[in-house]
Amino acid sequence: MSLETRVETEGDDRVLPFQIEASALRGRVVRMGPLLDEVLRHHAYPKPVAERLAEMLALAALLSGALKFEGVFTLQIKGDGPVKLMVADVTSAGHMRGYAQFDAAAVAALGTGPAPSVPRLFGAGYLALTVDQGAHTERYQGIVELTGATLAECVHGYFRQSEQLEAAVMVAARAPAGGGNRGWRAGALMLQRLPTEGTELVRDDADEAWRHALILMSSCSPAELTSADLPAEDLLFRLFHEDGVRVFRDHALEARCRCSRERVERVLEALPQQDLEEMKVEGEVVVTCEFCSRVYRFGDSEIAALAKS
Ligand SMILES: [Zn+2]
Repeated sequence: MSLETRVETEGDDRVLPFQIEASALRGRVVRMGPLLDEVLRHHAYPKPVAERLAEMLALAALLSGALKFEGVFTLQIKGDGPVKLMVADVTSAGHMRGYAQFDAAAVAALGTGPAPSVPRLFGAGYLALTVDQGAHTERYQGIVELTGATLAECVHGYFRQSEQLEAAVMVAARAPAGGGNRGWRAGALMLQRLPTEGTELVRDDADEAWRHALILMSSCSPAELTSADLPAEDLLFRLFHEDGVRVFRDHALEARCRCSRERVERVLEALPQQDLEEMKVEGEVVVTCEFCSRVYRFGDSEIAALAKS
């Protein structure tokens, strides 16, 4: 038996869909643990950046579950504040990755107090949701201005603009106690409703059921959302048991980057010869994946071969 502290919890890194029986409202819970450690260990992000990226990963998994797609779902924020770019993506197979670009001095200047709000961290900018299903399909993209103090509020801004989806989300992330980079936690919860058809009475009942479910949902605390000791099923029971709650088959999530030497080669092949020459440092072109920090090196002869093909 290993004496190493077990950080993983049974049932982490997954999306669990559910239905509230009394109202037939659908939702999903996302729970993340080891996946976050794996994504974040490749970077040395300051805490406010790492925390928001953990939330972005949980939100990407949560929102992607609302769509039927084969390919890649991407959640991205671009801003003019200390953090310029934050990206989290998830494939239909549940493979996830993410990264951030930021001004280290500007992030440090925010101090070590409570987590900075979205406007302080990202400035003015936008949130984009993209679904890419490959070369021969149309890309879907939804874009909304960043409005709100939290990432959840920004996502609500997107829902308000979207005609199909009436939904609410909660998200929370928690850094490892005592620092270090193992033991990250994140959780997210989403409820959604479909347009109600029928008489005014039916619609009133549906509105009432929606408001009631939102109240139950809002009683969920960040500690419960990120808890390693409260399985997702138990959390749902705690929140919605009075209306009955049924869970469906869960989907596993895993930290896995899609970069490869072949993909990097294709990018380099597309560059003019002169650009490749200018990228050389001591006779080598070195490309580092922004998502996973893997390093790809190309020597003189390899560069010459790429330029010819
Ligand atoms: Zn990579």
